[in-house]
Amino acid sequence: MDLFEYQGKQFFGSFGIAVSPGEVADTVDDAVAAADRLGYPVVVKAQVQVGGRGKAGGVKLAADTDEARTHAGDILGLDIKGHVVKRLWIEKASDIAEEYYASFTLDRAAKKHLGMLSAQGGVEIETVAESDPDAIAKIWIDPAKGLDDATLRDWVTAAKLNPQATEGAVELLGKLYTAFVDGDADLCEVNPLILTPEGRVHALDAKVTLDDNARFRHDWDEYEATQTRDEREEAAHAKGLQYVGLDGEVGVIANGAGLAMSTVDIVNQVGGSPANFLDIGGGANAEVMAGALEVINNDPKVKAIFINIFGGITKGEEVANGIVTALGRVQIDSPIVIRLDGTNAEQGREILSRHESETLISRPTMLDAARTVVELAKR
Ligand code: GDP
Ligand code: MN
Repeated sequence: MDLFEYQGKQFFGSFGIAVSPGEVADTVDDAVAAADRLGYPVVVKAQVQVGGRGKAGGVKLAADTDEARTHAGDILGLDIKGHVVKRLWIEKASDIAEEYYASFTLDRAAKKHLGMLSAQGGVEIETVAESDPDAIAKIWIDPAKGLDDATLRDWVTAAKLNPQATEGAVELLGKLYTAFVDGDADLCEVNPLILTPEGRVHALDAKVTLDDNARFRHDWDEYEATQTRDEREEAAHAKGLQYVGLDGEVGVIANGAGLAMSTVDIVNQVGGSPANFLDIGGGANAEVMAGALEVINNDPKVKAIFINIFGGITKGEEVANGIVTALGRVQIDSPIVIRLDGTNAEQGREILSRHESETLISRPTMLDAARTVVELAKR
């Protein structure tokens, strides 16, 4: 789950990380009232889950009430890379001496936490990584050992921040790592992390992704309430299906996350474009299949459906019967291509062959099936 900046700052604040005081506002009047309460100058900031708001005119300094009103009016409703601004964060403005970059993420390949720190902040880190990779100091942290003070200090030194920022950065980054671990985040990014002219170190932006698998450990209701969910995902999750909406035209149903991913890949590989990822899990029975087909059928972009099942504990004939029963229950608008393999695949295909038509096609291999379904989707 991705948080908005203001939520990320709440999250940071709960771990004692220095952030600026501020208030959210959904209307111009509320924004002005908040700015008046905070005292000028303030920063008026668009709350959208996309980076580069500053460049897009979504972050503006206001010196007085009039400017706050003008900026709030300009930014509310602004379209930033397809995200329309509905909420503002009004924050007490900070004086900036220097802008840095700091983040913690997971490095899955290394099986470690990755910390990145750079004296070149305020710009996108991808740009720094390309133009001056040595300007990013990286550390890999063994999650079982954590991050001790000596390592933190070495890391900050390696990043060549202003020596004035050392103490503050060590303290803030220690807390940021605690927030990342104890808060169950997959990403904690601060860009910019600033040094003020008075020598304080402070988080001026917050990008936080929480690990959904850890939600049972936390009270994330407030964060969840503001999540904008894909309607298709909403319907699928209500049915207990593992579904991720994509932009293409081939509906995908598979059993097992690995097979579902491979299916998405092979559709792409043969020149198609998947409309979704959908894992129906182990039991490919009629009820689950009917639910999955309904979800996919309700997606207006879908032009053809690829059902890719590898029979394991659920045998081929049970899967085939499940599909046939499901098709009797749900009226499907798009042609369906099925690849059935695994335990008792022969028996399963035999059942399917009795129901084959122009819109229900069985193919013996994944590649065959992918080619057929992509061709049908393009028709
Ligand atoms: P982003 O563009 O979406 O990453 O939004 P940020 O919150 O990072 O803000 C973009 C830029 O606006 C920062 O890099 C700062 O240069 C500037 N900015 C943000 N807040 C303040 C502030 O309190 N004072 C000043 N002087 N500049 C700010
Ligand atoms: Mn930023």
